[in-house]
Amino acid sequence: MKKEFTCIVCPMSCHLTVYNDGDKIVVEGNTCKRGKVFGENEFTNPKRMLTTTVRIEGSHLKRLAVISSDEIPKNKMFECVNELYKVTVKAPISRGNIIFHNICSTGVDIIASRSVKKL
Ligand code: SF4
Repeated sequence: MKKEFTCIVCPMSCHLTVYNDGDKIVVEGNTCKRGKVFGENEFTNPKRMLTTTVRIEGSHLKRLAVISSDEIPKNKMFECVNELYKVTVKAPISRGNIIFHNICSTGVDIIASRSVKKL
């Protein structure tokens, strides 16, 4: 089965074609080695960083920007975002504070992207 991807590792946005040849994964269209690794990962287990917001109380802000500590499998994204939708944190928060441990059993934490003072 052939799959087509656009490499997002750099702004060149190379068009990749990826397929199995026996046990091997073949990546075509990449201009560099990073694109080959990206194509192989997209083909076998695509992952992305998760950036979203959670509710915050006791601050001038209504939402706190958060980011995953590592990439999360794409097929778990929806579940993770739903989980974070239920979360409310209380100010003060320091940038880098862990907001959610091991989100959806991915082994990845969700951390605060910025510091927020208490009102
Ligand atoms: S294959 Fe290499 S040059 Fe092309 S977009 Fe990916 S990282 Fe950039």
